[in-house]
Amino acid sequence: MNYIVLQPSGSNGVNYVLLIILHCRLHCCWQLKQLLRGYVHIVKRVSHQNGKRSVFQEVALKSRTECRSIPPPKYYSQLITEMEDLGWDKLVFIDTEFRTLRLKAEDSSGRQHVVTVKLKPKHPLEAPVCTADLPVPLAMTWTAQSSLTHVHTQFLLLLESLAEFWAVLDEIDQKTWVLEPEKPSRADTMRRIVIGNNVSIKVEVNTRHPNMLPECCLLGADHVVTPLRNKLNSNMHLWNPECSVLQNLRDVLEIEFPSPATHEKSSFSVECGICYSYRLNSDIPDQVCNDSRCGQPFHQACLYEWLRGIPSSRQSFSIVFGECPYCSKPITVKCPPRNPEN
Ligand SMILES: [Zn+2]
Ligand SMILES: [Zn+2]
Repeated sequence: MNYIVLQPSGSNGVNYVLLIILHCRLHCCWQLKQLLRGYVHIVKRVSHQNGKRSVFQEVALKSRTECRSIPPPKYYSQLITEMEDLGWDKLVFIDTEFRTLRLKAEDSSGRQHVVTVKLKPKHPLEAPVCTADLPVPLAMTWTAQSSLTHVHTQFLLLLESLAEFWAVLDEIDQKTWVLEPEKPSRADTMRRIVIGNNVSIKVEVNTRHPNMLPECCLLGADHVVTPLRNKLNSNMHLWNPECSVLQNLRDVLEIEFPSPATHEKSSFSVECGICYSYRLNSDIPDQVCNDSRCGQPFHQACLYEWLRGIPSSRQSFSIVFGECPYCSKPITVKCPPRNPEN
């Protein structure tokens, strides 16, 4: 005996309807029978797939008005055929309307990825909309003969083309302290790497040529950043595309990056001297007093508000000139970009 639990969505999952297929006959209430008219052969087919049943156990049967927007039976049989070709083990999620699927893929380095596929009601005549956590656009070729296997194959090819890029970023993430992004996604091309107390380097890794010299920006107090910038400029010719970005940065800047093996992250996440917190919305205290004995970090927004409130401060265009709240030495800050939330 096979059975399927049908979950009418929007009902908080309370009203489950048990549908029993006994000797290939459908046993359920008359309302359900009416709803399933035209879909019975699909329900039977799914219910006979031993072991793979759970995926399709939650069939969307919304209110009857919404049932009218359900695609024709052919859509579902097509979907099942395509999933059988691709392999059910690739399916990590399907919504209750059977329109949105998430398929998993593993690249040759063992990284796990997921592609979200939104099928059109006229699938496969219309191309599905595919999205994934990638640093490049996910462009798919699609014809009326294409299937989910084509999506998956093209996705895998794209993943392989980005393997070197992710290898560069994975090494940075594993061997250094990254201040930003707080939780890097596979789409993030930027890393702000700790060099020392209140000193960091922001690198923007190229997706196509990941081992080339990335765009670099040194952040911190002038007395620390200037010598590093000079090193970067004078040693730039030593950059070796055969080596990783991290190794090249070490060689060119002539430094060792603090790593999780050698340092605690808390020693680099010094809070703002004005609001005493580290993260303000998503900002970190990246304005540093240039006096070498002070070196106090501040959030840009905090320092800007503070200096504007002091009568002795002076503003010229978007820059405010004033005194460090800690050591009274001259300090400047640019007007922070407007936060859309405020
Ligand atoms: Zn602050
Ligand atoms: Zn200061």
